[in-house]
Amino acid sequence: MNTSPPTVVLVYQRTTLPWVFDSAERAGIRLILVPRPDEDVAPDRLPPAVSGVLRLDVDGDRAGALAALRRRYESTPFQGICTLYDPLVPFVAEAAELLGLPGIGRDAALGAQDKRVMRERLAAAGLHVPRFVRLEDPGGWEEAAHLDFPVVVKPAHGFSSLGVAKVDRPERLKAAVEEVWQICREKLGRIEGLVVEEYLDGPEFAVESLVHRGEVTVCTIGYKGEPEGPYFEESVYRAPAVLPAAVEDAVRREVTAAHTALGITDGPTHTELRLRGGERPYLLELGARIGGSGVSQYIVQHVTGRDFAADALRIAAGLPPLSFGGGRIPAATGAAANYIVPCGGSGRIAVVHGLAELHDDPRVDHVVQMLFPGDVVRPYPDFTGYPAFVLSRHTTTAEAETFHRTLETAIGVEYTPEGSGR
Ligand code: ADP
Ligand code: CA
Ligand code: CA
Ligand code: CA
Repeated sequence: MNTSPPTVVLVYQRTTLPWVFDSAERAGIRLILVPRPDEDVAPDRLPPAVSGVLRLDVDGDRAGALAALRRRYESTPFQGICTLYDPLVPFVAEAAELLGLPGIGRDAALGAQDKRVMRERLAAAGLHVPRFVRLEDPGGWEEAAHLDFPVVVKPAHGFSSLGVAKVDRPERLKAAVEEVWQICREKLGRIEGLVVEEYLDGPEFAVESLVHRGEVTVCTIGYKGEPEGPYFEESVYRAPAVLPAAVEDAVRREVTAAHTALGITDGPTHTELRLRGGERPYLLELGARIGGSGVSQYIVQHVTGRDFAADALRIAAGLPPLSFGGGRIPAATGAAANYIVPCGGSGRIAVVHGLAELHDDPRVDHVVQMLFPGDVVRPYPDFTGYPAFVLSRHTTTAEAETFHRTLETAIGVEYTPEGSGR
């Protein structure tokens, strides 16, 4: 009998974001960590679940990275490979296919990543889709001028809302398309096209799901605020969302059908959607991965009391999930939230107020600071990142909302006055 623990290659996960590593440890799953190329990982400070490190340069040498994975697999076999980093979902799907490991396959990965393909597949399945136009080059903007305004212009392969812009009038479309194109070229490194789609009015939600052999279980639905643009910063995440039963059911059905339409049969997913008129779910996108670099694990764990990432890693290793299944949304046992500290300006950061105090707050489990005094925040539409996340636990979602209101005034980023310092 083979009693050695299952081993999964985890690609491009930062060790500073601990949740998925903690789940692996609890689930008895070993990880071979592929660090981000820009991350130094000290061998003595690795999370306990990590049994090995493998450096790959996927962007620089994709074929070399695949070859290195094959060599590793042939010398010391592993049972699965996964990533929480959206741009690498297609790479991981390809690697799994080549090595004969569990995965969603290259074609499903394409549909989960390319917003043009996603929109086409959802529309073909009769799901709710805003009217949209795909642009292969910025000169094609006129094709999108007949859409109902406002519209949203976004890169086909974007992430983190980079280059996503709302345009209110047709007269502004040409300039906006050119601007988004420019941002894509500079920031995404590659540009394969844009989507222009009608603006979806309504509150935004994130849905965390787990799929096993085609059966989709929605684990949690969380409220994501109601950002109105013109640029779309992340702000809050509070789960479980308080929704009428019929609306919750509509969300569950739409999200489940989207998995089928996109051919995503196994693994965790993170779906973003808006409720038009407060009740009709329209997908924004569906990522074939655990969301928020692991924040989704924190949310699901504390809303349901069950280990989402452990099940996700089990599925990656070809094992059945232990905690989720059956297609029904589990009853909530608590509420969990993420407050994303807004940049609130641009320039060189002098100080971030209000974070140190939170370490002693019993509701707060993690303060993840990503920008520090001295860092430079460039103005939108450029994207530098977020100053910090505050992850907290509450008895109800209403309490989480009250807590977030206090954070809005307690936390602030101060910038160095123009001309001082450097
Ligand atoms: P990304 O992959 O960069 O996250 P998204 O499609 O999720 O791209 O867009 C980022 C954000 O922009 C969304 O969370 C949403 O707030 C807003 N957004 C995108 N498309 C639309 C739309 N059609 N209507 C309204 N808001 C949108
Ligand atoms: Ca995305
Ligand atoms: Ca998104
Ligand atoms: Ca988002």
